[in-house]
Amino acid sequence: PPAAKPQAGRNLAIPGVAHIIAVASGKGGVGKSTTAVNLALSLKDLGWRIGILDADIYGPSLPRLLGLKDKPRSEGRTLIPLEAYGVKAMSIGFLVGEEEAMIWRGPMVMGALQQMLRDVAWGELDCLVVDMPPGTGDAQLTMAQSVALAGAVIVSTPQDLALIDARRGVAMFNKVDVAILGIVENMSYFVCPHCGGRSDIFGHGGARREAERYGVPFLGEVPLDMDIREQSDAGRPIVVSDPGGAHAKVYRELAAQI
Ligand code: ADP
Repeated sequence: PPAAKPQAGRNLAIPGVAHIIAVASGKGGVGKSTTAVNLALSLKDLGWRIGILDADIYGPSLPRLLGLKDKPRSEGRTLIPLEAYGVKAMSIGFLVGEEEAMIWRGPMVMGALQQMLRDVAWGELDCLVVDMPPGTGDAQLTMAQSVALAGAVIVSTPQDLALIDARRGVAMFNKVDVAILGIVENMSYFVCPHCGGRSDIFGHGGARREAERYGVPFLGEVPLDMDIREQSDAGRPIVVSDPGGAHAKVYRELAAQI
């Protein structure tokens, strides 16, 4: 991706990190985290040094997705990220219990996010993938403004409602001058494992139409598939558990366009 535009008078870079990419969605449950992790691991397979930051304070899913249970060590103020499948990982979920973070107010959330951006020993990374909190509120806007983002990938289902929210996401990144690297349609279609018939459970093609309307790249379609869900739940994302499979190919093709 292109280097992020410098913003006057503010140091928004993270030392050692060449590019920061946000993976965002207008609402929760559309598969943003699943996409972020599989995308990050595919970028790693392309030879990039990758970190993943789970900024989804109220619903951190990185510990589950990567099967990580340990607490990160700290050296002074600095947190040492965990590692899984060759990528570095940091999540608020490594540090506090889910219920604890759930009742935090805005300033606590922003403080925790800043700490995870600034006080983590990421080392040398070609790209840090940030799994953004869902939605387009204050926390998202602040995140988008507190680091020099090279761009944002927006994840949506084909459904009207999810698309309306994705549209807000596009508008939000436009507002803060962050390039949209593209839109991914997740849960794009379903192929029955028994009969091979295809069903467009949430409709189909909406995200591609939306991308065309906004003049942003359409990155591809990820099907709704039981293996994607089961492998995620088991802490072995599909691009790791089935690297030669059709799904891994889809994610690799998404990554290659970034
Ligand atoms: P978000 O980050 O948008 O809240 P998640 O990535 O946590 O969404 O996904 C929500 C649920 O949907 C998870 O159980 C995940 O395993 C499942 N999921 C995501 N994408 C797919 C897919 N393409 N096929 C099947 N299940 C999926």
